[in-house]
Amino acid sequence: MGRTLIVVAVRGLTVKPSSDDLYSNVTFSNWASSVWAANKTGPYSIATGNGGAFLPYPVISSRWDDIAKNLTAQDHAKYLAADADPTVVAGYRAQMQQFTAALRSNGTAFYNLVMSGGASSGVLVDLHPLSRGTVNIDVSNPAGKEPLVDYRVLSNPLDPVIMGDIIRFTRKYHMNNPLTAQLRPTEFAPGASVTTDKQMADYLVDSLSPSYFHPVGTCSMMPRELGGVVDEELKVYGVQNLRVVDASIMPTIPGANTCQTTYAIAEKVTEPPVWTNDELCLQVTGRGSNPVRVGQNMMQK
Ligand SMILES: Cc1cc2nc3c(=O)[nH]c(=O)nc-3n(C[C@H](O)[C@H](O)[C@H](O)COP(=O)(O)OP(=O)(O)OC[C@H]3O[C@@H](n4cnc5c(N)ncnc54)[C@H](O)[C@@H]3O)c2cc1C
Repeated sequence: MGRTLIVVAVRGLTVKPSSDDLYSNVTFSNWASSVWAANKTGPYSIATGNGGAFLPYPVISSRWDDIAKNLTAQDHAKYLAADADPTVVAGYRAQMQQFTAALRSNGTAFYNLVMSGGASSGVLVDLHPLSRGTVNIDVSNPAGKEPLVDYRVLSNPLDPVIMGDIIRFTRKYHMNNPLTAQLRPTEFAPGASVTTDKQMADYLVDSLSPSYFHPVGTCSMMPRELGGVVDEELKVYGVQNLRVVDASIMPTIPGANTCQTTYAIAEKVTEPPVWTNDELCLQVTGRGSNPVRVGQNMMQK
C-alpha cells in the first residue's frame, strides 16, 4: 500500500507565565483579573490555540542553504522502508527535489507555529517532514484487522536538524522578543542548555509526537511511475470508474492545514464537467461532519 506522511509536533516547550498560572499563582491571577476588569486586556483576552504563523524556512534558520544542499546530497532511497517499491523510491526522490527548493523559498510555509495561550508555548509543527511512514494490510488477517501503520518518524536524519532549528527559532521568538520580555518568560523544556544538533535530536526522540493528525499521501496524485495512485482527475490508475477524493491524494502535506485543503479538493472535483453517470467515488467528509458522498448524487444535481 501507499506511503503516509505525518506532520510532527513537539510537546513540552514550556514558557512561563502561562494560563496555568491563573490557577496556581495568586499574584498573577489577581493581576490578570484586574487588567481584564479595567480594560478587557491581559491573559483573559487570549483564547486557546487562537493564533498561528506559517513561516518559510529561511525566516527561521540562517542555515537554510546548507540544509538544502545536504538534502540534495542524500541517498534518498536509504531512508525509505526496505521494501519500498521502486516507483515509490522514484517519487520520494522527486519530492525531495521539490523540498530542496522549498527549503530555500520565502514563499513556502515550512513551520506552523501554533500559539496556544496555554501552559506550553503552543505546538511546533514541521509542515514538511522528510521521513516517510508506511501503511500496510496485515496479511495475517487482511479483512479482519486494522492496517499496520508505522510512522517511521525521524527516519530521515535531516528531520531532527530541521526540528531543532524550529525549536531554536521559537525559543528566540519567546525569549528575545521585546513584546514578551515584559512577561519575563522562562524556558522549562527543552531547557536553555539544549543547544547543539545532537542535544536537540536526543530531546526530540523523547518528546516528539509522531502525528499532528494531518496524514496524507496514501493515494498520491502523482504519475504512476513515481508511485502515484490517482491521476490529475483523481481517477485510480488501472481501475475503471473509480476516483478518490480526500486528504490521501495530497502527495505531501501542504504548507497549510489539511481540512480546508480537503474541502478545496472536493469543491474543485465537483465542478462540472468532471463526472460521468457510472462513476463511483470514495467519499469526502470533514472531521466531525456527516459524510458527503460525491459521485452519482452530486453529478445528478
Ligand atoms: C484530532 C484532529 C484534529 C484536527 N484538527 C484540524 C484542524 O484544526 N485543521 C485542519 O485543517 N485539519 C485538522 N485535522 C485534519 C482533518 O480533520 C483531516 O485532514 C480531514 O478530515 C481529512 O478529510 P478526509 O475526508 O480525507 O478524511 P476524514 O475526514 O477522516 O473522513 C473519512 C470518513 O470515512 C469514514 N469511513 C472510514 N472507514 C469507512 C468504511 N469502511 N466505510 C464507510 N465509511 C468509512 C469515516 O467515518 C469518516 O467519516 C484534524 C484531525 C484530527 C484527527
